[in-house]
Amino acid sequence: MIGVVALQGSFAKHAHSLGSIGVTCRAVRSEADLKSIDGLVLPGGESTTMTTLLQNEGLWEPLNATLETMPVFGTCAGAILLGQQVDDDRVKCFDKIQYKAVRNAYGRQIESFTTSLILPKLNYHDFHAVFIRAPKFENIQQGVDSLAVYGPEHVLLRQDHVLAASFHPELTDDATIHKYFVDEIVLKYR
Ligand code: GLN
Repeated sequence: MIGVVALQGSFAKHAHSLGSIGVTCRAVRSEADLKSIDGLVLPGGESTTMTTLLQNEGLWEPLNATLETMPVFGTCAGAILLGQQVDDDRVKCFDKIQYKAVRNAYGRQIESFTTSLILPKLNYHDFHAVFIRAPKFENIQQGVDSLAVYGPEHVLLRQDHVLAASFHPELTDDATIHKYFVDEIVLKYR
């Protein structure tokens, strides 16, 4: 059972991707929803707004504690929140993966783009990735493993039980990265 934080962002799309590989999901909107899940997805959206919503719902602190050990997959704004630092004081990040996120680093909405990524460690060579006001990751520390690059940028990163994508793997029908999260992180860490 994977919980998908559902205060903002695409719960349904992540649930669809996970459903396509036989995984059941639950929407997480309160502390009680964190009970009896095996992993979490922090979807995209707006990291400033998500910070406010998580704090207003009293979810920031319990989530922070849960994420110490719970396998988690953050996409776009979710990846910003998981980082150690972010270039925006309005975002309160969880410091669960060691990089600094730079918001909107590829430009505005109109500069959104798609590209094909090679995922060598997943033995996969054509993942269609959708970047929407995506962050870049800087000051990536030792212990953080890069699973995909786009030019000079690391766009899919993993540190132990934490997986972070600057793009939106839930917006394509290809569940390769969700499957990697479930098989290689959730099932190995729970
Ligand atoms: N630019 C957004 C932010 O800073 C993230 C965009 C997204 O999740 N697609 O939070």
